[in-house]
Amino acid sequence: MGLDFNERGYVIRVSEAAAIQMCLHGLEAYTIYRKGGTQRKEAMTETFGLVWGHEVTQADGRTLYSVDLVSMDISAEFGKSFCRPYPETFTLKKDIVTSFWPQYEFIGDFHTHPYRTIDEVVTYKGLSLSDEDKTYIEEGSDTWIRHNYRACLVLTISRLKRRSDFVSLDGNVLMFTMGNYRLWLHAHVTQRVGDSLIFSNKADIDLYCPSFFSPDEYTKFGRLTKKARARLQFEPGQH
Ligand SMILES: [Zn+2]
Repeated sequence: MGLDFNERGYVIRVSEAAAIQMCLHGLEAYTIYRKGGTQRKEAMTETFGLVWGHEVTQADGRTLYSVDLVSMDISAEFGKSFCRPYPETFTLKKDIVTSFWPQYEFIGDFHTHPYRTIDEVVTYKGLSLSDEDKTYIEEGSDTWIRHNYRACLVLTISRLKRRSDFVSLDGNVLMFTMGNYRLWLHAHVTQRVGDSLIFSNKADIDLYCPSFFSPDEYTKFGRLTKKARARLQFEPGQH
């Protein structure tokens, strides 16, 4: 099926290993101050990785993209509202995986959208792909069609005042809560239109991420608090 539009729809299944990687890296970049990027020292930055897996046409005709692994880019430039991966990193990792673990195909990529509050998520349409996200794929259409870039996962992160254990799934958006972090995992698929690759705005996508429907906390998770000058501090749970 590849990049031709499938009007029957899509299923994106995210493995537990991939979900764990996205949460670990996303919450680290959100919470911990780190040096680098364009500013001196900052928390609440984006992070970026590649996703690997395989494609199956289901018996019902829908296209299944199975996201089995996530590899995070440690060379990408990052900031509060951007993340720029180096093309060389993609070239290297694609070659490594193809050469040594060919059972995993390149499926697409993953990045985070960090926001201080849920109000900010709403104001800035934080669940949607940004114009920059769309341009990144469209302007690189030649490359991405050659490499069969099929899906993008965005993890939007914000902070709640109170802890919660709420989980909900609505089509291609999974909303879940870890302590007082509120997260949304949003799945997008591409389609080829002539010589261009675009994110489809008519695809019917079901996101399936079973690990978020297991018991949510085995022991009490910690809490993210805000200190003076808007600095964040994570207070670990009692284990
Ligand atoms: Zn984005």
